[in-house]
Amino acid sequence: MLTQNVKIHESWWFDVSATLDKSTLCAENKPLDRYLTIGIACFARYYAEPASIEDLSVLIKAAISENVPISIIGRGSNIIVIDTVYNGLVIRLNHPFWKMCQRLDSDYIRVGSGLRLKQLCGFAMREELGGFEFLEGIPGTVGGAICMNAGAMGHWISERISRITFMDRAGTIHMLNREQLDFGYRHCGGLEDQVVLNAELISTGITPALEIQLLIETFHAKRRVSQPREPSAGCIFKNPEGDYAGRLIEASGLKGVSVGGARVSNCHANFIINDRDATGSDILSLVRMIRNEVFSKSGIMLQPEVLLLDARWEDVL
Ligand SMILES: Cc1cc2nc3c(=O)[nH]c(=O)nc-3n(C[C@H](O)[C@H](O)[C@H](O)COP(=O)(O)OP(=O)(O)OC[C@H]3O[C@@H](n4cnc5c(N)ncnc54)[C@H](O)[C@@H]3O)c2cc1C
Repeated sequence: MLTQNVKIHESWWFDVSATLDKSTLCAENKPLDRYLTIGIACFARYYAEPASIEDLSVLIKAAISENVPISIIGRGSNIIVIDTVYNGLVIRLNHPFWKMCQRLDSDYIRVGSGLRLKQLCGFAMREELGGFEFLEGIPGTVGGAICMNAGAMGHWISERISRITFMDRAGTIHMLNREQLDFGYRHCGGLEDQVVLNAELISTGITPALEIQLLIETFHAKRRVSQPREPSAGCIFKNPEGDYAGRLIEASGLKGVSVGGARVSNCHANFIINDRDATGSDILSLVRMIRNEVFSKSGIMLQPEVLLLDARWEDVL
């Protein structure tokens, strides 16, 4: 993930792009603001939306052999970036190839990693398969949700996972059952540095579509009053054991506090919103300020939940 001091042979990108299928999208110096829900301005030195497993493998192997850092993004709803340029390759599984959704035997569904959770929920409702309703309002993809073990309303995506197929950085494909993965709070051990290709999910069984719809509407109503509408990357900090990051931030008097264009949401204190052209460094400064204030008031040091595209938190905090 390191972006600094990377030696890049300029011709490698031209060479690799030329070998890929026409439907694989490749770009240089690609603006990323549209691909990160927080909408901060930055560029990816190299950018690709592979249209097949073969092209994904070619891209990964080429970048590795050139020592170019790689970042996979889904909907970018849990990612912020500090610098204005990411000097690496961003791979986004946005081609329709990655968005398949298929009913398997009995209570199972197979989904591509680029499928949006909202689409998964719509499909499950049409198939009258219950158990996915809590995912509807999470603005991510299946791949991002698995890597983050996304959860809401008392449930986690790990509860619904049966099997995951992924590619390692040598381009080899593997399959693991849920029991072989180490799911934790906003984390899935075993998938670091891998690319999730697809997953088999298990429902809670046949459920009338109307029942599913009512549950989704109830969850929606809860979100509408408890989460900001402005651009954000979701919850900035993990909840510490036995408490809530939002409560601690609010109790420290930080609601509405801003640095540059980044502001602590008045609606939910664990969200930093892009108020007006926030930069990555505005957000980083605000994160540092929140951690210091909360620590001095409560003795608790909050840990970030949101991820950095171009650095590691331990190197910048
Ligand atoms: C308004 C708002 C509300 C939110 N509410 C919730 C909530 O209720 N619960 C919750 O858990 N989260 C929530 N989030 C955070 C976020 O939506 C989730 O973490 C989501 O699952 C991230 O999915 P994504 O596709 O956007 O992943 P990204 O943000 O794009 O990526 C997240 C991580 O997954 C990795 N990744 C993504 N796709 C792949 C892949 N195919 N293979 C390998 N690695 C991959 C990335 O490299 C990165 O490390 C919220 C965010 C917002 C903006």
